[in-house]
Amino acid sequence: MDVRVNSCDDVRMRGFVRRHTVEAALAWLDAQLMPLGDEIIPLQTAAGRVLAAPVVSDADVPGYDRATMDGYAVVAESTEGATGYNRIPLVVVGTSMPGRPFPGSVAAGEAVRIMTGAPLPTGCDAVLPFEWTDDAGDDCVSALAPVSRGKHVGRRGEDIVRGTALFERGRVLRPQDLGVLSSVGIGEVSVVRRPRVRLVITGNELLPSGSRPHGCLIADANGPMLAALVERDGGLVDFPGLVPDDRQALRGALTADADVVIVSGGSSVGVEDLAPALVAEEGELPIHGIAMRPSSPTGLGRIGGRLVFLLPGNPVSCLCAYDFFAGRAIRALAGRTRDWPYRAMRARLARKISSQLGRLDYARVQIVGGAVEPIAVGGASLLTSTTRGDGFVIIPADSEGFAAGADVDVWLYA
Ligand code: AMP
Ligand code: MG
Repeated sequence: MDVRVNSCDDVRMRGFVRRHTVEAALAWLDAQLMPLGDEIIPLQTAAGRVLAAPVVSDADVPGYDRATMDGYAVVAESTEGATGYNRIPLVVVGTSMPGRPFPGSVAAGEAVRIMTGAPLPTGCDAVLPFEWTDDAGDDCVSALAPVSRGKHVGRRGEDIVRGTALFERGRVLRPQDLGVLSSVGIGEVSVVRRPRVRLVITGNELLPSGSRPHGCLIADANGPMLAALVERDGGLVDFPGLVPDDRQALRGALTADADVVIVSGGSSVGVEDLAPALVAEEGELPIHGIAMRPSSPTGLGRIGGRLVFLLPGNPVSCLCAYDFFAGRAIRALAGRTRDWPYRAMRARLARKISSQLGRLDYARVQIVGGAVEPIAVGGASLLTSTTRGDGFVIIPADSEGFAAGADVDVWLYA
């Protein structure tokens, strides 16, 4: 399959001669993707980051046998047969506190007052909880019940044994992972570098986010949306502000220092659509025009070491094209899974969805009483179709759609 069609020749105002299939676009993209290099960072900042190398523990946790209850450390044998009517007296020879162990060793008939987490003294093999003793005095206590060997004792290495493989490469670190790593003495970790993603939001009609739209000017919807998507996928956002539809400004933004450049707007074949020709001039644009709806005027290319994504300005197209292509790339560069971070749910279609053969469709849907209701909107400009919608259904290019009553996969936004 030839993915090079349309590359390099200026298609402005002529329309796309031929559109690439989504599969061809993904095949080109996937061939470009390799996780970035690694960097060492402090453990405290590592939540959500991706491990670049496996981690093996070189410590036992805990590093010593310890009490798991407050009470008396004893030789279990010496409590055998103890009941409320047959109290067995024990001589209290000292105390073991967390971080301050009892220094001596303990014989049958003796006891050491011990707190949860404190080291079990030499000679002891169980902890008699306070509730199973009387409070006879400072240097004497009676057992009211027997304890068996090992009772209320946490063994050395019971959580982590030295030599255990803790986490594999590629693990997205959870808060509790940081706790485990810290508990074996690790203070910094090697993680995959986050891709630096330059957002290039273009359009002379745009006002910066936070501006009230007025006259024929509209407030930027794609900048904040893309920034959040890039963050979600593990990228580092660089968004210095809107870029006018101007060759010089656009060229500068396209060649900024970045791993990924995402352009919103001006990706199609109109006179204002400068980005495709500029990418082809500065680098290569092997994919431009994709057989999907929305997002057909999407382009994928490279400029030097940067992957460049030309996303349509229509906000729904922008979201859809991001999710199909840019998000996948950012996740892969960040060492994460290429799959969508959306959960899929199988449910019954309340009404039919039709689709043109030869084109993939991205249909926003609502879940109403467990059934899938397509949202009846025409174009890609109505972003609220994705905020009212619970998710989307993909109709593959080789399908004419789904009949009412069919079971379909819904990808849930939340
Ligand atoms: P374009 O892809 O530049 O042809 O833009 C297609 C449509 O999306 C036009 O109606 C634009 O005004 C609109 N649009 C472009 N960029 C944005 C943006 N950042 N936020 C909201 N709408 C946009
Ligand atoms: Mg535009």
